[in-house]
Amino acid sequence: MKETIRAGVRVEGVVQGVGFRPFVYSLATSLGLTGLVGNDVDGVFAEVEGDAEAVAKFLALLEQQAPPLARIDRVTSTRLRPQGSAQFVIAASEHSGERRALISADSATCADCLRELADPADRRYRYPFVNCTNCGPRFTIVTGVPYDRALTTMSSFRMCEQCAAEYHDPADRRFHAQPVCCPACGPRVLLTDAAGAPLARGDDDPLAAAAAVIRAGHVLAVKGLGGYHLVVDAGSEEAAAALRGRKHREDKPFAVMVPDAAAAGRLCVVDETARGLLTSNRRPIVLLPRRPEAGDQIAVSVAPGNSHLGLMLPYTPLHHLLLELVGRPIVATSGNVSDEPIAYRDADARERLAGIADAFLLHDRAIHIRTDDSVVRAAGGREAVVRRSRGYAPEPLRLRHALRRPVLACGAELKNTFCLAKQDRAFVSHHIGDLENAETLLSFATGVEHFRRLFDIEPELVAHDLHPDYLSTKYAADLDGVELTGVQHHHAHIASCLADNDADGPVIGVAFDGTGYGTDGTIWGGEFLIADLTTFSRAGCLEQVPMPGGAAAIRHPWRMAAAYLAAAYPDGVPDGLAVLQRNDAAWAPVTAMAARGINSPLTSSAGRLFDAVAALLGVRDSINYEGQAAIELEQLADQSEQAGYQATVSGGEVVGIRGSDLVRAAAEDLALGTSRHIIAARFHNGVASAITAVCAALRERHGLHAVALSGGVFQNLLLTTTVTGQLAEAGFTVLTHSRVPCNDGGISLGQAAVAGARDRQRLL
Ligand SMILES: [Zn+2]
Ligand SMILES: [Zn+2]
Repeated sequence: MKETIRAGVRVEGVVQGVGFRPFVYSLATSLGLTGLVGNDVDGVFAEVEGDAEAVAKFLALLEQQAPPLARIDRVTSTRLRPQGSAQFVIAASEHSGERRALISADSATCADCLRELADPADRRYRYPFVNCTNCGPRFTIVTGVPYDRALTTMSSFRMCEQCAAEYHDPADRRFHAQPVCCPACGPRVLLTDAAGAPLARGDDDPLAAAAAVIRAGHVLAVKGLGGYHLVVDAGSEEAAAALRGRKHREDKPFAVMVPDAAAAGRLCVVDETARGLLTSNRRPIVLLPRRPEAGDQIAVSVAPGNSHLGLMLPYTPLHHLLLELVGRPIVATSGNVSDEPIAYRDADARERLAGIADAFLLHDRAIHIRTDDSVVRAAGGREAVVRRSRGYAPEPLRLRHALRRPVLACGAELKNTFCLAKQDRAFVSHHIGDLENAETLLSFATGVEHFRRLFDIEPELVAHDLHPDYLSTKYAADLDGVELTGVQHHHAHIASCLADNDADGPVIGVAFDGTGYGTDGTIWGGEFLIADLTTFSRAGCLEQVPMPGGAAAIRHPWRMAAAYLAAAYPDGVPDGLAVLQRNDAAWAPVTAMAARGINSPLTSSAGRLFDAVAALLGVRDSINYEGQAAIELEQLADQSEQAGYQATVSGGEVVGIRGSDLVRAAAEDLALGTSRHIIAARFHNGVASAITAVCAALRERHGLHAVALSGGVFQNLLLTTTVTGQLAEAGFTVLTHSRVPCNDGGISLGQAAVAGARDRQRLL
């Protein structure tokens, strides 16, 4: 005789608004089970009753066959007394209690919806807002919790009868799909000129007219999922150059949207990992090496002087339709002027983009929260996130240890993200941007409030950078009734890498970046730390050099070349260096200023060392965006070159690397007429060898065998690959970033991990 049992099942994670209940319903009924399924504040609960074998099968398949957007954290089951229930039902939602249910990230249009989009017999044929429980907008339209249509920007659209029937039918793919809509009841697109006057009227298809705008070489502003894009024909030099001019963006590459992975493969080298990233439902921009032979298909002004291209595939039905109508790759860059935050509200977009866009493709579904496109690259067969935003946020990262008290981590200044964390979940925010102006600060503060409400987190502990002038530090200091904990910038980088790898340390942490406030008040950035999650000691660093003119030295790498050459040649810099000749007039005053220590703060920054060598090699004397000189130096390097320069590694309590040795070696090779490609490679190899040598010395001293690499300099794949190889060969375990950026976008996670660890060990 078969045994009848009843099991209570609880599923936690991203399980609401992703079609989980209908999935449970159909799984249970297909196995002949009775019972119920419902949503509550923790996620999804279910009770299943029937033959013991069928219940076991149900539990096994629950995780294996979960809907595509579900991310299951935990499934727990308990044995209940059988009730003799006759059918399986979907129970009403329960909204009381502490909220632990999660909100899904936005997701690219699924295959089923794309099929409907292309089917003339379907009622959503060519409808730019088709979506279902497996795809569509989520985070960007949610205004509050619980996740319900009334608390999304779809609340103003009343479902038609047909949509309502789908919405209420547990067997339908659109059961409780909150953004469900159709041409009869949902949002509409509108094409206007820059002044707001409609351009397509009556039977004119606004999308076809919009495509014509792009094909004619004009600039089109397109309202997307998390904000506005500025779009031009990627093959038109005239259009791309015009967009650059109007956006005041000189060299920073534009992202390009292509219809599918095959089109991406014609422009760039797409390996299996990259292909997976391109086609994932997160749909990030993927940085890919260009195929030289595909050069003429993409205008030079799209990514000037760059051997890589940022490609993405369409992620909304509107993008799919537009791309099909344009019939060639399009530039899709953020809708802003230079470094301002991306425009996402219609009135604001109209005002700020009026001087840039010739026409606007709008729609009437509001974007609640500004969310930029995410940027990733494939590194060593796995994903390395460069900017974690749309498609990723607000998915939590699991912390290795549950927090004692809820934490807010305020992040850094550039590429800011914040992180709210509770128990074992860390919600790293979408990309906020550079906290250098009032608008970004407002975006930061409203973002924190939004996350607090969505995830029901009342922070008691607040982590911040040590830099007293960062707006994020000031924000923390202004909060009432919370305990503050300062986390040194590079310690936060290493802690972020530990958290990214689910590790505790201690490790040898190598934090190489541009700028971070040191505990001694100087600017750090080429640091070797002995670190765990609570504390660190500075065990080594690049030898300090002056930054002549402070911030001016960041904007003008030739100034760093001057400072480094002065250190490399104490008896006088040799004549004939091209960098000196190019900057002849200002050279003497700048070196004199540095020598006298006037407005020349000392730095151990690795970013500045890369800048110096880039200027020395004539890559560039001034930059137009952060990291430009280093990026171009990496691309210049001949990757087949194996030799490397030697830097002196000095002993002492804090081990020093003499970076000026590398600059001198490069200058001498240059004087010998060695190719710049070879010199760039030898410099990279030299930095890698110096890192390995210092790690080996620290292993002797501290007995540590694990190295964590973090900081924006490790976005340099040539350096990271070389140093990772060397360290592994020397017997080290190497931790690198994957889920959060190695740049300052990952700082907030590290701060949260440090705050939590200090709290757990009662060190506060
Ligand atoms: Zn769908
Ligand atoms: Zn409808």
